[in-house]
Amino acid sequence: MRTIIKNIDCLVTCRGGSAKTGKGLMDAGIINQGFVVINNEFIEAIGQGEDYKKYLDNDSIVIDGEGKTVTPGLIDSHTHVVYSGSREFELPLKLSKVGYIDILKAGGGILSSVRDTRAASLDKLTKETKKRMDLMLLHGTTTIESKSGYGLNLEDEMKMLQVNKELNSGHPVDIVSTYLGAHAVPEEYKENREAYIKMMIDEIIPRVKKENLAEFVDCFCEEGVFTIEESRRILQSAKEIGFKVKIHADEVVSTGGAELAGELKAFSAEHLVAASEKGMRAMAENNVIAVLLPTTSFYLMLEKFANARRMVELGVPIALATDCNPGTSPTESLQIVMTYACFGLKLLPEEIINAVTINAACAIGRQKEIGSIEINKKADIAVFNAKNLNYLIYHFGVNAVDVVIKNGNIVVKGGVRC
Ligand SMILES: [Zn+2]
Repeated sequence: MRTIIKNIDCLVTCRGGSAKTGKGLMDAGIINQGFVVINNEFIEAIGQGEDYKKYLDNDSIVIDGEGKTVTPGLIDSHTHVVYSGSREFELPLKLSKVGYIDILKAGGGILSSVRDTRAASLDKLTKETKKRMDLMLLHGTTTIESKSGYGLNLEDEMKMLQVNKELNSGHPVDIVSTYLGAHAVPEEYKENREAYIKMMIDEIIPRVKKENLAEFVDCFCEEGVFTIEESRRILQSAKEIGFKVKIHADEVVSTGGAELAGELKAFSAEHLVAASEKGMRAMAENNVIAVLLPTTSFYLMLEKFANARRMVELGVPIALATDCNPGTSPTESLQIVMTYACFGLKLLPEEIINAVTINAACAIGRQKEIGSIEINKKADIAVFNAKNLNYLIYHFGVNAVDVVIKNGNIVVKGGVRC
């Protein structure tokens, strides 16, 4: 059974089997008047002009790509999509410049999401997360990374990872699961953070491994959260038992998180708004992917974005993600992130599309299967109502998705689920 997308005004293949860096990031493999042939769940052929006709048979589904931009299904390589509740009550506090600590005292901040997530049953948490994943799919996202980190104890962290597992098999969007117990020190361990760190290292991380509930372990390495030494201990212990590691690094202040990512040969380091020159160089040398989250800079009113241009110059591979979370980036749309990447990070459209497809696949270790439109890769494809790639980023704040194909199946058509 074949599906053919023909006459595509702008076919963006993002071809390449590894992370793109430097000038290579500008190569998005664009074909004008292109076509894609899908056979069951895989891509069978790619080309230009009328050659698609030789693949046509009686039961082929044909999609007309006139006026469309077609890209690999978008990959959101950093999300906190599993949570309960919401934090819109923080808006007026933020605008009156109430600091993060005072928001915490007023019952807000990350610990308020911890309370709501702990209180939610597995079923409720799964339903709330599924709604957000439906939105992601409607906006062209076909694979995500999803972190725990609002449970902060054995039982509730396992519950969050269980949501990842259930939705990975029960939802069209694929999930790569990450344990982020080191997201904050829970209230009950405020006076005894060492005991919490020890519990993660001795008990929770080995348990997550044993039950095979995550592929990555992440740690929020930041002033006031976990120190460099604590992060090193946590992540090293995870590496020793076979986890791949990621680091939330240098989001607000540079504490040397990017340097630590290089030292540990982490898969990726995320945020990096305040990353030092030395840290960026350490990342380039050790092939650590920078996962940049421009909507978070915007939402935190940091008035500063990560130095993406310098990272590209130094050869750091770059990916972009939503950071979808209830406090500092409540959005499911990678399309919005793409616009902020352009105006905030000063990245060009070709760089941006590579950063939400092939490079994002590399950030979660899936580049062999997804992230580009190439023969024998999985047929995860987004068709946008945009006459070219620039238009997709230029016309912002609306959902440009027309069709989404996941594993060769049409799951969104005319912008609605089918
Ligand atoms: Zn995050």
